[in-house]
Amino acid sequence: MGLVVQKYGGSSVADAEGIKRVAKRIVEAKQNGNQVVAVVSAMGDTTDELIDLAEQVSPMPAGRELDMLLTAGERISMALLAMAIKKLGHEAQSFTGSQAGVITDSVHNKARIIDVTPGRIKTSVDEGNIAIVAGFQGVSQDTKDITTLGRGGSDTTAVALAAALDADVCEIYTDVDGVFTADPRVVKKARKIDWISFEDMLELAASGSKVLLHRCVEYARRYNIPIHVRSSFSGLQGTWVSSEPIKQGDKQVEQALISGVAHDTSEAKVTVVGVPDKPGEAASIFRAIANAEINIDMVVQNVSAASTGLTDISFTLPKTEGRKAIDALEKSKAAIGFDSLRYDDQIGKISLVGAGMKTNPGVTADFFTALSDAGVNIELISTSEIRISVVTRADDVPEAVRAVHSAFGLDSDSDEAVVYGGTGR
Ligand code: ADP
Ligand code: ASP
Ligand code: MG
Repeated sequence: MGLVVQKYGGSSVADAEGIKRVAKRIVEAKQNGNQVVAVVSAMGDTTDELIDLAEQVSPMPAGRELDMLLTAGERISMALLAMAIKKLGHEAQSFTGSQAGVITDSVHNKARIIDVTPGRIKTSVDEGNIAIVAGFQGVSQDTKDITTLGRGGSDTTAVALAAALDADVCEIYTDVDGVFTADPRVVKKARKIDWISFEDMLELAASGSKVLLHRCVEYARRYNIPIHVRSSFSGLQGTWVSSEPIKQGDKQVEQALISGVAHDTSEAKVTVVGVPDKPGEAASIFRAIANAEINIDMVVQNVSAASTGLTDISFTLPKTEGRKAIDALEKSKAAIGFDSLRYDDQIGKISLVGAGMKTNPGVTADFFTALSDAGVNIELISTSEIRISVVTRADDVPEAVRAVHSAFGLDSDSDEAVVYGGTGR
């Protein structure tokens, strides 16, 4: 008998019908002779709606209380799912993250899992139950407060539980048939990927392909847990994310040169204008940002004008951290000695990802040519060994993604990518 960890995203359990459909699917896995642990997200856009509600009450709600509020979303779906399974004649028990042993640090709204002690889950499945676990939440080891793992965090819950329970597989059920060469909501001709390495998936996830969360892939790579991303609305095979290429029948799946194109419109750009061009200035700026516990993404420093000895430094960060970053920098303005701050939240990022880049010198040139042919202006550039990213105007993103996808021969000539549910919010 195997142990399967399954995760169902919000769009899969958006309403009562969805919950009943997912319950059937879970029961099937159990009837196939497996022990089943199902991690579940909040129904539909519940998390967004709770955040909107909190902001109506207070523009910057306290992290502890926001976590308390948001974890309610997953509690609703876990209890309903357990009820639906019992209705089908099977035993199920639901557990909060804390009850499931998901132990985190104490950083509210984006806590990291530091340990998983799934004793109660193990006992529950050994007794013949299906265990349902609320995703996206844990409990702080130090403060004993309830925490959340950051948006999309249920993916991480699933992989962490799969690792702690030594599961045979971790299945992530969502509203598309797997990981595609681009977001199917933007590129209708995106192709489903049969297998992708942890490395390429990490870069896609870090660049905004929210089908899997970056931290979840990091976790899976560290503990070598293969992930199967697939749709809860269809019976099709999805995408395998693992260290070694899989076999399909007798055929070995090959590593693609280019895995895909990712985009992200959730970031903003801060420009620190008029920074004295001397050692230590960048350090002070980014120390102020780090002290506010803000993660940044790209950084660019302009060449300073010889006449003034002043330069500008731009960086990107999640929009949700924008206000905190501006406040932190304003507070240190006198100490750092810059002139002013500019904040721009109308930016987007487009990234091309693929291990083939390492050995293929034309890729960067082709990427920039595709963007220029589409009339897209580039504002910032950053690269890694297997990724090129550019920042553009947010409005240009869909067109730019499609142009790059075509230019690299990723367009499928037959099936259109299907999106089964969700609002894309
Ligand atoms: P869930 O609610 O199941 O967690 P998410 O909305 O977090 O679902 O993730 C699934 C969505 O990810 C898809 O509906 C799709 O719009 C988006 N997405 C972005 N990039 C990709 C990609 N490369 N492949 C598949 N889906 C992608
Ligand atoms: N419900 C949470 C969110 O919307 C966590 C998740 O869905 O993974 O971000
Ligand atoms: Mg998700």
